[in-house]
Amino acid sequence: MEITRRTALASGAAALALAPGLVRAAVDARALHKKLICIDTHLDMPANLARPGWNVMEKHRFDEDFTQVDYPRMVEGGLDGGFFAIYTPQAPVTPEGMSAMRDAALLRAMEIREMVAAHPAQFELAFVPEDAARIAAKGKIIVFQSIENSGILGDDVTLLRSFYKLGVRMAGPIHFLNNQLGDSATDKKKWGGLSPLGREFVKEANDLGIVLDASHSSDDVFDQMMDQSRAPIICSHSGCRAVHDHPRNLDDARIKRLAAAGSTIQINSYNEYLVTVPPDPERDAARRAARGAMRNVANMSPADATAAVRAAAASEREVDKKYPIPRANFDEYMKHVMHALDLVGPDHVGVGADWDGGGGVVGMEDVSSIPKITERLVKAGYTEAQLANFWSGNALRVLGKAHDARKQA
Ligand SMILES: [Zn+2]
Repeated sequence: MEITRRTALASGAAALALAPGLVRAAVDARALHKKLICIDTHLDMPANLARPGWNVMEKHRFDEDFTQVDYPRMVEGGLDGGFFAIYTPQAPVTPEGMSAMRDAALLRAMEIREMVAAHPAQFELAFVPEDAARIAAKGKIIVFQSIENSGILGDDVTLLRSFYKLGVRMAGPIHFLNNQLGDSATDKKKWGGLSPLGREFVKEANDLGIVLDASHSSDDVFDQMMDQSRAPIICSHSGCRAVHDHPRNLDDARIKRLAAAGSTIQINSYNEYLVTVPPDPERDAARRAARGAMRNVANMSPADATAAVRAAAASEREVDKKYPIPRANFDEYMKHVMHALDLVGPDHVGVGADWDGGGGVVGMEDVSSIPKITERLVKAGYTEAQLANFWSGNALRVLGKAHDARKQA
């Protein structure tokens, strides 16, 4: 380990000595990155807001508390905001399970609003594409909201109207498991795509002007949403199947279809979708046990919760040492970005790195590292205008199209 680090430092120093032009280019790329409006279309940070003792205004470290997004790291990484996800794990599709999910989602939406209300000089809610530039100009974080797993709607998709009023502008029907709306990319085929209720959900989202998000949906659901939707759908956090064969990644034909409809694939940095991680039940059990210490944090005092999370993080580091898993690095992440860019061009690709939801790679561990992406793209010859689209223009264009296609009263 030490030898590797020293070698890396030595070669870094050599690069500095040999290539001042390269150093200048890196500095220029970072300045450009700060200037652009950068948004990520899938931020799972709201999941941490209910953690006692966790303060979004403080800088945290992933290896201490598993988090990757907070205000200081967003500022450091030049991340101007994004879609803050109202994520709810799939419960059994029973009346009890569905009402528990609905309540959890309503509380999460409330926590996002509380965050913004508590820090009005740093955060502002956004609802239409034009809000992004207006809020960024004030130096604040742009807070769009999305739903990850619309199973929360139970058996009445008109509940989506209330979430729209709360500010939700993007919604994915499904998560890891099939639900009453349709099939997941990571579950056995049940409906063969959307269920009849799932088709009602698509219509409701269209009528409201909510962007439909196909990340986590099965290929059949993707195809059927493309067929049915009046507005372009998005993939808010997905990779390229041609680079790494995983059902959560999109094949080239579907990426092209997304682009042809005017939309964008937002590239994910979730380890298991970038590299193959062989199953190891012993490791998984050890990891679950390590995180078990923080199962009850919501009911702890701030001091106890902070201590429990730190203890869990420390024991997970020990587990990772004992059972090392293949970890994707920044180059492997960029392979997905570059493949999508080569395939459909910079007007149809962006970033949805799944921060706080399992994202992050070696060399890009939290949001403070995202200027590296811009650096690579500048080096690859992308212009400022192209990067402006990559970092926010594309996603905002899709939001605008959903808004234009809504049912006007
Ligand atoms: Zn996800």
